[in-house]
Amino acid sequence: MACVFCRIVKRELPSYIVYEDDKNMVFLDIYPVSKGHLLVIPKEHYESIHDTPGKILARTWLLASILGKIYRVEMGAPGVNIVTNSGSAAGQEVFHFHIHVIPRWGRWTGFWGGRHRLSEEEARDVLDMWSSKKELIVKGLSEI
Ligand SMILES: [Zn+2]
Repeated sequence: MACVFCRIVKRELPSYIVYEDDKNMVFLDIYPVSKGHLLVIPKEHYESIHDTPGKILARTWLLASILGKIYRVEMGAPGVNIVTNSGSAAGQEVFHFHIHVIPRWGRWTGFWGGRHRLSEEEARDVLDMWSSKKELIVKGLSEI
């Protein structure tokens, strides 16, 4: 199995998991643009947004929206980007549909500006930020 995200789902590769249920998983981007940069995926493998069935697409986008709202409303981020890339020409690097949720904490530095290697300390901080938010995520998902 070559797909990195499928291997993360199966725990064959390590990741920092923020949220998980039977259909979706949320984990930290290993090269975050900003502190808290999340990747939201369906657990089933689909190459891009265009291959993903509507029901799964809707739930995955809802989840991304909930996470973005929690950054804005609960954690005080003044902005958030919620985006997917389709095709290598658009910057897609892993061909398993995923949505980036990128909180913006201050001045705009360009879309991918500030990308850096995730440190253990930064990862632990972000997991701490999310440790008390699971109920809000579950509540939001119950709307679909
Ligand atoms: Zn996959």
